[in-house]
Amino acid sequence: MKIDHHPDESTLMSYAAGSLPEPLSAVVAAHIELCPDCAHEVRAMERIGATLFEVLAPASVGLTAGQAFAGAAPSLAATAAYVDTRPTASVLTRLLGGELADVHWKRLGFGIWHYPIKLSPNSKGDLRLIKVAPGQVMPDHGHGGSELTLILSGSYSDEFGTYRSGDLSDLGDDVEHQPVSDPVEGCVCLIASERKARFKDVLARIVQPLTGL
Ligand SMILES: [Zn+2]
Repeated sequence: MKIDHHPDESTLMSYAAGSLPEPLSAVVAAHIELCPDCAHEVRAMERIGATLFEVLAPASVGLTAGQAFAGAAPSLAATAAYVDTRPTASVLTRLLGGELADVHWKRLGFGIWHYPIKLSPNSKGDLRLIKVAPGQVMPDHGHGGSELTLILSGSYSDEFGTYRSGDLSDLGDDVEHQPVSDPVEGCVCLIASERKARFKDVLARIVQPLTGL
């Protein structure tokens, strides 16, 4: 699989530190499973992070290196929940509790379906699958907070290029784009948004011109 689009360096760093919100972390984990380059980079960042913690923590908080590192364990473990893959279950399979082929899609509007994915009780943000029919043009939309999109099948193109299976689009606050799905295959994506309300707003604006509501 040839992957052209990767998470930003800062996104990978937050992921490695275990500080990325759950939905965004899940999308990065699913990308890393497909992308040896990012997997390698994250492992290197984790090694550096662990070393820094051992060197700095005892002096700053008065703990031994072992105690300090144990204190850091929950956030690292939160990331590891996605990274430590069982050989038979992919990140996506675990998120869905089953296979992508068995998802019960809900229709959002003409040519667009979605499937919201359940997060942990205290988790913020939004994680869902989106399926777009072939050749579908989506209205321009901006983003509130970070948004990560991983292409699972098919492709889409926007001002930044063409995104195919395995590619990840990492968009910040100020970005507006107008994606068009592949004319033959359409597109299936895993999308994480930092803010739930804002994401619903974006969805409404995508769907509104199509449904006429
Ligand atoms: Zn990558």
